[in-house]
Amino acid sequence: MPLLPRRFERLKAVLDRRMGDLTVLLEHVDKPHNLSAILRSCDAVGVMEAHVVSLAGRPRTLNDTAKGSQKWVDLRPHADGATALAHLKERGFRIFGTHLGVTARDYRDCDFTGATAFVLGAEKWGLSEATTALVDQPIFIPMQGMVQSLNVSVAAATLLFEALRQRQQAGVVPGGGEGIAAERYQRTLFEWAYPDVARWCRQQQRPYPQLDGEGTILEELPRTLKLRC
Ligand code: SAM
Repeated sequence: MPLLPRRFERLKAVLDRRMGDLTVLLEHVDKPHNLSAILRSCDAVGVMEAHVVSLAGRPRTLNDTAKGSQKWVDLRPHADGATALAHLKERGFRIFGTHLGVTARDYRDCDFTGATAFVLGAEKWGLSEATTALVDQPIFIPMQGMVQSLNVSVAAATLLFEALRQRQQAGVVPGGGEGIAAERYQRTLFEWAYPDVARWCRQQQRPYPQLDGEGTILEELPRTLKLRC
């Protein structure tokens, strides 16, 4: 089916609001429903990509809770917490590690308007000691009830929406694609609009074709591929 102009406009509108400087790192959050719910919240807030460290040998699986958000939010795997944090720090992220200990700060007293990465831990054990030692700022969400902690996906959504609220208040939420680099914007737009063609181009090791203003591919493609556009 051809890409409808309305669909192309919707893809652009979502990408226009994506933020490359807001992310989550999930350490051993391996339950499919939690991983899926977190990705869905990332999409809802406008997160461009999420980062994961999985338990050795365990594949990352998602379920229906994701509602397809895995198509719109990149999931980047890392070997371990230290490698992931080094990668994020090198890219200028301030690392906020969720921690239920006494040294942590109330998340409402923190500034999430700059490059922000929230680090969330395993359902059973929380963040590992090694990763906790590497974060810039431990934070917690105050609890009023009998149970000590939130479900990890609820904690992730609470923090992400607080970051969005702060950014909206500060007037720094992108609205015209400025939240990500221009090259990445164009690449992602093509991948969202034409996933099959994008896959074929990668296999062929050739650049993605140009699109016109309405999202039409400005190049002759093999007939079999055209039928899938
Ligand atoms: N017993 C674990 C602990 O002490 O950390 C509980 C883990 S909790 C169910 C799983 C993850 O959810 C935590 O690692 C953290 O990322 C997040 N989380 C849960 N409640 C939180 C809260 N009140 N504040 C901040 N993060 C929280």
